[in-house]
Amino acid sequence: MPVTLYRHPDIFRHDLAANHVAMHRHRLGYIDSVMTRNKALPTRLARVATVEELLRNHTLPYLKQLANTRELADGQLLALNAETILNRHTWRTTVLSAGAVCQAVEDVQAGATRHAFCIGYAGHHAVASAGGGFCFTNQVAIGAHHALAQGFKAVAILDFDTHSGNGTALSFIAEPRVFFAETYQPGYPGDFLQRGFPVPPHIARRRCNNAQQFQQAWERLLQDVRAFCPDLVLVSAGFDAHVADPLGTLGITDAHYFWLAEEISQLGAPVIATLEGGYSLVDTARCAALFATRLGQ
Ligand SMILES: [Zn+2]
Repeated sequence: MPVTLYRHPDIFRHDLAANHVAMHRHRLGYIDSVMTRNKALPTRLARVATVEELLRNHTLPYLKQLANTRELADGQLLALNAETILNRHTWRTTVLSAGAVCQAVEDVQAGATRHAFCIGYAGHHAVASAGGGFCFTNQVAIGAHHALAQGFKAVAILDFDTHSGNGTALSFIAEPRVFFAETYQPGYPGDFLQRGFPVPPHIARRRCNNAQQFQQAWERLLQDVRAFCPDLVLVSAGFDAHVADPLGTLGITDAHYFWLAEEISQLGAPVIATLEGGYSLVDTARCAALFATRLGQ
């Protein structure tokens, strides 16, 4: 059954260039154009996340701070920190990105689609009361909370972005109905395990320094995920571990992402992936399309 792409043109209006020199101004729009060119992948227009859905993962004062950016003048920027810059389009961009995942959860539950890929803004560094690392709201975490609220019993989140999904891990540190599995390259923000942060068994994190370690880590992590027997799998699909990426240096190739999609599809549960990092524009778009296409075969 093919993967449904969840997208909305307003998501691509956020000016990304101010966030990092590695970020192409039209990054999301370009990824969207490549993925939607594949007519084998049906598309659905994303809806906005409701305040109730956002509040399951974020505090009200933080959401108000984000929502207030709608009042910024055209071209005016507000920095949450050095790499997380807001403008007047940020709120709509991020609530559509979160809403895409919530909508995909409902559609999977209703049997309207088996698998989904959400072309939205990255979220896995965002914590309850703060954004960070280019992230404003945590889309995959909001989606997992929504899945539990909708009646899913065991939700696995797999995060293969080169950076740690620190915000996602913290969201579910006391929620054993969610199994969080990730690989991450050490030395980046969010690498809190190195500082002795205590984590329970349902938060499974593996450090990697090269492609061989990455593949071995996922072979082990996927065994743990199978033992958890998820009825829904969410994926933080970041492609910045790719060999061509200007940020990550793990040396991952297209073949690794193809292999991961194959392995994840064989878990037997519906899969909803949401885009995270990936800063080599052409390679991220190609790998995201490859991953989504393979997932649906
Ligand atoms: Zn990343």
